[in-house]
Amino acid sequence: MDLTKSLDFIKKDLINNKDFNTSYLLGSSAKIELSNKRKTKYISKILYMSAASRSGINMCPFSTKTCRDVCLGHTSGHAALTKNGDKTNLVEVARLKRSLFYINDRENFLKKLKNEVKNLVKYSKERGLKPVVRLNGTTDLLVETWGVFKEFPSVKFYDYTKSKSRMIQFLNGKFPKNYYLVYSYSPENKQVASEILALGGNVACVFDEKKSKKRKLSYIGKRFLGHTIIDGDSHDLRFLDKQGGYVVGLSKKGKIKNNPFFISLKEVK
Ligand code: SF4
Repeated sequence: MDLTKSLDFIKKDLINNKDFNTSYLLGSSAKIELSNKRKTKYISKILYMSAASRSGINMCPFSTKTCRDVCLGHTSGHAALTKNGDKTNLVEVARLKRSLFYINDRENFLKKLKNEVKNLVKYSKERGLKPVVRLNGTTDLLVETWGVFKEFPSVKFYDYTKSKSRMIQFLNGKFPKNYYLVYSYSPENKQVASEILALGGNVACVFDEKKSKKRKLSYIGKRFLGHTIIDGDSHDLRFLDKQGGYVVGLSKKGKIKNNPFFISLKEVK
């Protein structure tokens, strides 16, 4: 793989050669590893594909300008690291391949995904763990149409979403019991976020403060949009958070320092 070429160039090459094969679809991340370490009864996996329109198809139809600008899908972790002279990296290419697989060969994509979930169920059973899967790692697709929730009732699925309609359906009990959603705040959807909180849904918000070993995050326990902020950084298993209209506070991560996406501490009361 020639990483000195642009992601667009690589994409054309992959499409021409129908090369969508990655060794696995479900993977991990630092936050998922943290969840597995701290919440030892659970074992979680995540599906990462290309965020927003990086694959050529919009995988985040409810995204906003500010969230696309700071998206952790390409501004943090290994996805943000390129070696000297390279234009991209293997993490981005793997996410692109999974996206192209999803876009061009949905049937086999879902077959492979279901097989991996099945293996996770087996693995968890042997170890007495509860399997957890986040399908929209860096996308916001209608995963409820994939047929996986009902096929794997012992698996807890969860996601963050910016779709008001999906969040309302979740709050109204329209999704299978093993699927949990938390709404994801952007300055552009502030009004909807307030409505969701009032309806008892939790809303994940990123505050303009970095985590530090020296001091506690200043916003925890305070209020934003009139609702109490709880800590969302210690693990990623959002369905274990206190429920009932809480702001799930996340600290600023990634290489972008200033962006209106990050909530100013002046807005925290
Ligand atoms: S919706 Fe989420 S995954 Fe998509 S661009 Fe925005 S922050 Fe990234």
